[in-house]
Amino acid sequence: MALWNRYFTPTSVDDALAILTEYAGDAKIVAGGTDLILDLQHGNHPPVAALVDITRIPGMDTITLNDNTFTLGANVTHANIVNHPDLRARATCLAESCGVVGGPQVRNVGTLGGNVAHALPAGDGTTSLVALDARVEIIKDGVRQWVHILDMYRGPGQSLLDSGRDILLGFEFAAGVEGQGSAFNRIMRPQGVALPILGCAVWVQLADDRKTIADVRLCVGPVAKTPTRPRETEAALIGSPANDGTIRRAVSVALDELHPRTSKYRATKEYRQMMIDVLLRRTLPKAIERAKTGVAVPELGA
Ligand SMILES: Cc1cc2nc3c(=O)[nH]c(=O)nc-3n(C[C@H](O)[C@H](O)[C@H](O)COP(=O)(O)OP(=O)(O)OC[C@H]3O[C@@H](n4cnc5c(N)ncnc54)[C@H](O)[C@@H]3O)c2cc1C
Repeated sequence: MALWNRYFTPTSVDDALAILTEYAGDAKIVAGGTDLILDLQHGNHPPVAALVDITRIPGMDTITLNDNTFTLGANVTHANIVNHPDLRARATCLAESCGVVGGPQVRNVGTLGGNVAHALPAGDGTTSLVALDARVEIIKDGVRQWVHILDMYRGPGQSLLDSGRDILLGFEFAAGVEGQGSAFNRIMRPQGVALPILGCAVWVQLADDRKTIADVRLCVGPVAKTPTRPRETEAALIGSPANDGTIRRAVSVALDELHPRTSKYRATKEYRQMMIDVLLRRTLPKAIERAKTGVAVPELGA
């Protein structure tokens, strides 16, 4: 049986939505195809009457920086992000997370929109978008609107969007300014299977003295069915000196607050709990150092 019967390449959002409407839920948006085509081939997604390839729609692959705000189209690829000097300098955690997605082939076609629409709580792009407090532009039930990144998730693999009817258009988040820094790290099995054991993104704002943490956003995952921010750990950091003692205390709060499960694909809960400690101790100091010095040299993986 064919996995799909028709393949459309619309050149406008309106045309894409018109095709989805015509197929009444029996068509599916495809971007890079790195998740969807495998899902169709492995039977994780039933065959569809049509695929609607949105990668020919002009403007959906642009990255702009205006008034200290980044706007990214949904079709921006991981490689586009890694290679963008402003994103590397001012949204460093996102460049670092996109830099470890799959291998070069996957990064060249896999999109940030697909990473979020696929709705896995461990999506590397997702983890950093949460730390960057991103907003997402969507058309849902025919209504164009902005939603917070955390509101995009309903459960593992379950998005707010029905990608047989709705479309994710792009993202918006603040570019880092003086006194701010961010970083991303993840723990993988050495053989590099697509599932991370745990990932962690940090965004931090230092006070004018550059010695105190004025604000922080963390995302550690997957530790729940949807991406989450550990608010108690964040609270333990805010207003505290940006030093090792504070990080030690924050790690102990995080170990109480976050409860990863045993997963046969990832690791035991005990090991993953230990990796919370390792990840926070690696990622927090890096983000703080970047906020202090204003120098961000992303670590981009293989
Ligand atoms: C070998 C391999 C390694 C990988 N490694 C990683 C990894 O390390 N980290 C990681 O996070 N991911 C990884 N992935 C998963 C995948 O590459 C990423 O999630 C990628 O960003 C998906 O984007 P895509 O454009 O290929 O999505 P697609 O496969 O085209 O689409 C994914 C889903 O999103 C929907 N969709 C796509 N775009 C839109 C849109 N604009 N509006 C509405 N719905 C949309 C589709 O209908 C589909 O349901 C890996 C995949 C492979 C094959």
